[in-house]
Parts: sequence; C-alpha cells; structure tokens
Amino acid sequence: MNMRSIYSIALGIAIAMVWSVQIGYTQAPFQCGTSITDLRAIKAQMLANREAMHDMVFPRSVTYVPIRFWRVGKSDGTGKISERIVLDALCTLNQNYADQNIQFYLKEIKDVHNTSVYENPGSFAGAAAIKDLMIYNAINIFITNDAGDGAAAYWQGPAGNTFNSNDWIVCAKSYLGDIRVLTHELGHFFSIPHPFHGWESEAWDPNIHGNPVGLYAPDGQTLNEYADGSNCQTAGDGICDTPADYLHPSNNCTYSANAMDPSGQPISPDPQLYMNYHFGCDSYYFSDEQKANIQNSLFSSTRNYVRPNYVPNTTEITDAPVLIAPIDNEEVPGYTNIILEWDPVPGADMYLVEIDRFQTFTVLPQRFITSTNSLLIDELQPNKKYYWRVRPFNEYYTCTDFSAPESFYTGNVVAVREIEAVKEWAVVPNPTNGQSFVRLSITASSPFDAYLSLVSLTGQSAWRQAEQHFPTGNTTISIPIDNLPAGIYNLVIQSTRGVLTKRIVVQ
Ligand SMILES: [Zn+2]
Repeated sequence: MNMRSIYSIALGIAIAMVWSVQIGYTQAPFQCGTSITDLRAIKAQMLANREAMHDMVFPRSVTYVPIRFWRVGKSDGTGKISERIVLDALCTLNQNYADQNIQFYLKEIKDVHNTSVYENPGSFAGAAAIKDLMIYNAINIFITNDAGDGAAAYWQGPAGNTFNSNDWIVCAKSYLGDIRVLTHELGHFFSIPHPFHGWESEAWDPNIHGNPVGLYAPDGQTLNEYADGSNCQTAGDGICDTPADYLHPSNNCTYSANAMDPSGQPISPDPQLYMNYHFGCDSYYFSDEQKANIQNSLFSSTRNYVRPNYVPNTTEITDAPVLIAPIDNEEVPGYTNIILEWDPVPGADMYLVEIDRFQTFTVLPQRFITSTNSLLIDELQPNKKYYWRVRPFNEYYTCTDFSAPESFYTGNVVAVREIEAVKEWAVVPNPTNGQSFVRLSITASSPFDAYLSLVSLTGQSAWRQAEQHFPTGNTTISIPIDNLPAGIYNLVIQSTRGVLTKRIVVQ
C-alpha cells in the first residue's frame, strides 16, 4: 500500500465520520484522493511559480490544452465508460474553464484493458502500469472503476514529463459526469491546493482540537489560516481571496460548523469553490487569485508539454445529425454489412454512433467513432429490432447532443462484403433539388468492373448500366434522374468483388 492509499483511508474515515455525524449522509461524498505528499508539493510549486512568474505577461488569447482520456477496463475488456460520458466531461471542463482563457481539446480517447489499473490504480502494480502507458504530450486522465478507497479522483505527482514524473489524473468512472470533480483535479494539475490545506488528514473535532482550533494543523507543517486573512499569503492554501477553511464538507452547499480560528474569530469558508468539498451547489467557481495561480502554472516549465501551441477546430456544432439510412422502422434484408448513413453536420469531423436493441442505449450497446458520415456494421443479429443514434463532435466541441434515435429491423440474409478496391465514394447532390443527374465519384485502389443500378424501395429497377469500368484512381459518372418520380432510391454498385449501396433522395 502506498502513501496515497494510507492517506486516503484516513481521509475517508475522517470524512465518513464528519458526514455521518453532522449531516447523516449515507452516500459516499465527493472526496479527492490526492495524497498529502502531492498536496504539499502542489502548494510549494504554486508558491515557487508565483515567485518566478510575477513579471510574466500572459497571452490574451485562449490557450488550448490537449487531453488524452484513457478508458480503462478490466483485462477482459469489460467495464469501460461510454465515450458519451467522456464527450460530456470535456464539454463540462470547457464550460468551467471558459473564463480563464484555457480550453481543452481531445488529443485522443484510448482504451486500456488492465484489471489492476481498473480496480486499484494507486497500487504498485496499477501505478506502474499507468507510468508505462503515459504519453507526455497531453494531460492524461485515466477513467477507472475505483480511484482508491472511496475517493472520487486524484492527481498523482510529481508534475512534469521527466523520468521521475508521474503527473496523471485518475477519475472513478461514476464521477466523470460530475460537474466539478474533474475541474477540481485539473485545479491540482495546475498547482492549486485545497482551500482547507492543513485540515486534510483529520476532521475538525472540538473535543480533540478545542475551540478555537490549534495554531498548527494536524499535518504539523501548515499554519491554519486566520479569519482576518492576516497570514493568508503562507497559511492554509497560500491564497488570500479564498477564506480560511478547515474542511467541513456538506451535501447541501452549506457550511454550518461554527469553527473558529486560533484567535477565536469564526471562519466563513466558501462551499462554492471548485477546490472545496461541497455537494449540492448550483454553481462553483475559481477565485481570481486561484485563476492567477493557474495561469502561472500553465506557463511554467513543468507544463510546457501541455502547451503545444496548436489551435484545434473550434467550430461549435449546433445541428444534430439527420439520419438517412436505414429509414426509420425499415426492414433491411440482411444483418451483416449494414450501412448506416446520416447527413454530414457542419463543423463535425467525428461522430459517435450508438446502436442497441433498446432505446436507452445502455443494455447491449455497440459504440463506434467514425470520421465519415456513414458506418458499416457487421455484428448484428438476424431478425431483431435495433435502435441507433449519432452524436457529432470535433476535437474541441463535444457538447452537441445525439440525434433523435431511429430504428430498423434486421433480416436473415448474409450480405456480401463491400468492394474493397473502393477507398472512397460519394453521390452529389443528395438529396437532389431539381437536378437532371447526380454525380457518382469513386476512388479505387485497383481497377474493377461493376453493374450500376438505381432501385426503388419496392425493388423496381429505375436505371441500370452494365459493365462500367473503374480504373485505379478517381472516376466520375453522371447518372440521369430527370425521368424519375420523386422518392428514395438505392444506388447499387455490384461487382464480382462485392456490393455497395447508397440511398439517394430525389426531390
Ligand atoms: Zn483535491
């Protein structure tokens, strides 16, 4: 058991006592598992940054910081959090840091299957596995089943990207969707201590600590901050616009402990600080001085590796995708090689597609991320009803909701494979709008011959062309549609090497 774990147990017991005695709270409260060692290092780093960077002129533009989310599962691959919650979490972070000229973008979502990391990321085996996985070109956040001893999340120091550094965040998957847990841990990443530093490892108890509380906090090193702020530069969290605080969490955003500082003055902690431990607030914030110290950290040398000087695609995505194929409630003949297709969404360069037998998308979900507006799925069962929905995003903007779900029924035909020689293909315009033809363009990696046909949804051939040759490279073919009644048609490209179909809407 490492230092962090020992500390976490002590903290967990202390907090459990405070909560059960004072509040009668039975559910596990938010608690941060960042170790006392790391919390001391955070404060020391913050004070050092403040000293070193007081003449620094910070850019007035937004700094974009990459995040790599690691979806940790058991060694058998199960248990990983949904990509959907990861997108939500990034959206929340960007809202919470928007007033600091700091925005985060998705470097990547990576999956790791390791039961040690999943169940006990703070253990020797878990931490060693994480260290092996670390890629020091983004903030690395590991989403596990458990952050150790009931903690919601923690930051693991030391900071930096050297051999001796750790510098990762672990978040238990049940807390990733919380509005402040990850924001709080990124506060630690950027060297912000808890406002109650000094009363970390033991809950305040008048029978033990007296009232007023003693001059020194139980860690024996940290001065308790006075209510009047006279020692705020160095005592407590070392930040003057966060009031004295000796750690009294609540589940209703209320401080009610009536604690006094060492001179007998009542303290007045602020439950709404992100760096505090209060549930139930309508909103949370960083104080101005906390924000200034976050800027100091971001532009310090240990954070060079998360400032790549890169501006991501920041287009806000306002539209939900329109699902094209299969048509809602359609019975498709096969259950393999089914092509899902939707309208491209302006600003989106990635899509999260969810497919499930149930409309909740939580029972037997299949989830895919694709960069195109279609997806070939192969792993469905015959003669079943499926629901599907699509959520557009880009590396920065992940706040757009899914499309409304639609459904289709699979048949029992095993469909032939699509044509491997076709690398890309498109039909424009689609839907049409009074044009007399559509253009089919195909990029082939090797030559092939195919029959082309337009087939109505009732199976009648509306147009066909035999023995069309597609050489290697790009080929564009005009398909006449001026004699077709308005409606939906399947364009079928059939070759001895497979079949491609695409839905065309003629208006
Ligand atoms: Zn914390």
